[in-house]
Amino acid sequence: TSLLDKEQMQGLRGIREFLKVRTSYDVLPLSFRLIVLDNDLLIKKSLNILIQNGIVSAPLWDSRNSAFVGLLTSTDYINVIQYYCQFPDEIDQVDQFRLSSLRDIERAIGVEPLENVSVHPMRPLYEACRRMLRTRARRIPLVDIDDETGRETVVSVITQYRILKFIAVNNEKYTMMLKKPVREIGLGTYGDLATATMNDSVLDVIHLMVKYNISAVPIIDKENKVLNVFEAVDVIPCIKGGAYDELSSTVGDAVSRRADDFPGMYSCGEDDRLDSIFDTIRKSRVHRLIVVDDDQCLKGIISLSDILKYVLLFGEEDDTIQTEN
Ligand code: ATP
Repeated sequence: TSLLDKEQMQGLRGIREFLKVRTSYDVLPLSFRLIVLDNDLLIKKSLNILIQNGIVSAPLWDSRNSAFVGLLTSTDYINVIQYYCQFPDEIDQVDQFRLSSLRDIERAIGVEPLENVSVHPMRPLYEACRRMLRTRARRIPLVDIDDETGRETVVSVITQYRILKFIAVNNEKYTMMLKKPVREIGLGTYGDLATATMNDSVLDVIHLMVKYNISAVPIIDKENKVLNVFEAVDVIPCIKGGAYDELSSTVGDAVSRRADDFPGMYSCGEDDRLDSIFDTIRKSRVHRLIVVDDDQCLKGIISLSDILKYVLLFGEEDDTIQTEN
């Protein structure tokens, strides 16, 4: 196995070197669109815009102060839902909330606001990755200074998924070397897993995601067989048009209403290796892998942050981890 260990380490080092010589800018496609939402928009309306455009997040722009004020993500909607649960009599008010109220909502329900991180697009990609791991931000805006106005502009948003895809597509030479089974390298979470059944309500599952601070819950049957995965982004269509009462409907109903282009669920076995996981990432829109046994029974879950963490940090000296800005 020592040969296997050596090769694995060589693969990881190759990928880390690659991330140090590439910039976040390199990850962006040649042409792309960026939808930015005005901070004054009603939250209710923002839902429709995301759905119509097939996106799950957007940078927020304060047009009064001409400033970028943060990123809208599914977590914000989950916060609104928690607010609605805590103050059910205020539904009329919830309907009138604007995106600019999101920080007040966080305060009212007592959640820690997320650190507002951003990176410059021309900085090494490695830096963006380290920052993601340090802050637990799953997406980071790329912020540049506009030459003419001297103001900050958001060029794009970089995600864990985009980075792992970029690694997978450009580093087959190194990802091929990652031949150790996920079981052996302890990739992912096993044991205390948050799960749900098809009959649980959407609200139950949202509470579970909040409690565990996770963005996906496997849906299993009585025999622990995995049927589907409910994701934080699935919440968005559930409250379309401000229909919060629909949150009491079942997860089964919610997943059956998913868009046709829903990427689906990806699974792997504990004997699978990281090289094959990178093959899956290369070919498909994977946001997590559900680890199952031969009978499709749930064993664990491998999130993109688990993969990114392993790829960047495994075998690193502790001091290099701490000295990162
Ligand atoms: P995202 O999936 O939004 O890109 P992420 O990669 O950080 O973000 P999370 O789902 O937030 O993924 O996972 C955070 C941590 O919790 C990971 O270590 C993951 O293995 C673990 N985890 C994920 N889902 C569950 C679950 N249902 N039960 C227990 N632990 C989980």
